[in-house]
Amino acid sequence: MNASAFHGRLFGAGIAGAGAGARAWWDGSTLVVQTQNELYRADGASLQIEAAGFNLRQLRLSWNAMDGSYTFFVEVDEDRTRLTSGAPDSLRQAFARATAAQRRMGRRFGAAAFVYGAVVALPLLLLLAFLLNIGRLVDWAAEKVPVRYEERIGDLVLAQTRAQMKLIESGPAHEAVTAIGAALTSDSRYRYRWFVADNKEINAFAAPGGVIVVYSGLIAQTARAEELAGVLAHEVAHVEQRHSLKNLMKTAGFSVLLALAIGDWTGTALGNAAGKLTELKFSRDAETDADREGLRLLVDAGIAPHPMADFFAKLADKENGTLPSMLATHPASAERQQRLRAMIAGLPSRQYTPLRFDWAQVRSSLPVAAAGQ
Ligand SMILES: [Zn+2]
Repeated sequence: MNASAFHGRLFGAGIAGAGAGARAWWDGSTLVVQTQNELYRADGASLQIEAAGFNLRQLRLSWNAMDGSYTFFVEVDEDRTRLTSGAPDSLRQAFARATAAQRRMGRRFGAAAFVYGAVVALPLLLLLAFLLNIGRLVDWAAEKVPVRYEERIGDLVLAQTRAQMKLIESGPAHEAVTAIGAALTSDSRYRYRWFVADNKEINAFAAPGGVIVVYSGLIAQTARAEELAGVLAHEVAHVEQRHSLKNLMKTAGFSVLLALAIGDWTGTALGNAAGKLTELKFSRDAETDADREGLRLLVDAGIAPHPMADFFAKLADKENGTLPSMLATHPASAERQQRLRAMIAGLPSRQYTPLRFDWAQVRSSLPVAAAGQ
């Protein structure tokens, strides 16, 4: 017949529902499709070309003829190659578009393989979740999430934060936060981004992927740079240990992973989940782990650790009625404070060089300090 023929399945007028196996070839710019009984011809200019099927692995060619519409599916790689290579020039662009869509999907699939694996194995995983507990399953899955997915969540949280409050991205306070933050994260696999929010609440939060936001109201409460360093170290520890991501997965479920894996960054499920992320309370265990890891980061950076405990104690001691927002998400029980003090007491004694910042200047540079807070 024709050496450059390709195979596929034809659907259309007069063909049984399951379609007919067919071979096809290009005759100039005309597509010729031959089933067992019939020969069909379609003018190239009338063809619609799309990637189709599960994972977009097929190419779908459809056209309208006098007796109705026809669709021809080509699936196998080899056949697809013959189909596209023999196609008339006028169809090159349409094929390129379909192939690009297939490649994009292929990349998403590659990246998402573990998620789809999880979906297929979902009944088993659910059983496992009941047998063990969901927390451990989430922790296990969270460790498998690529850093770039976390960064996308961080981007979403950052965009939502920008919409809600003004971020101060220069000046003495931002410089201090960035410099201390950099000292704490020099060994990290994350690319940290530091922000000061113009907000009088006493708060700070960390989003997955290394977005850290400190409120000016919190900086106004710090007596010296080391206290701020303690807060930053604690937040960095939450990022490094993926606590926010785990929180997110526990509240919003594995759909978040699916959304991330298929590249649906703007999906409402993910957007909603990211919006609530900064309000989620960390567990007691997560707080203790963040304190421990935060202390380690401080000490490694040569920053005195005691002020960290002082600052959390100061927050918990506040008797002016309102609970600092930070304590709503980072509960500082008496037990946690005792444990933090005990960890510090257990460190080998050493001299720490004080951080070189003009802290009065840092604080007075903030709008909230100027307002007399
Ligand atoms: Zn915390």
